[in-house]
Amino acid sequence: MNIIKVLAILVLIYVGYRIVTMFRRMKSQEVKAYRVDDAPKGEDLVQDPFCKTYVPKSQAYVKEIDGKPHYFCGKECFEKYLTEKK
Ligand SMILES: [Zn+2]
Repeated sequence: MNIIKVLAILVLIYVGYRIVTMFRRMKSQEVKAYRVDDAPKGEDLVQDPFCKTYVPKSQAYVKEIDGKPHYFCGKECFEKYLTEKK
């Protein structure tokens, strides 16, 4: 009976340890993802040639027009820019 109790406690400790390490891994991954996501914001901003809004390069909608990359805040601005250009 005592051995079974000890085993049960050991299993509980092991399961608890696994859960804690799993949560720690999840948290560290969240932090990493956040950092990767956050880093480009401080980098270069690009201007939307249609609405003149500045957007982070990593989040811009990029389209090549006449061999040059154009950065838009979204697909809508790109399409409006194209129709206005014609
Ligand atoms: Zn725009």
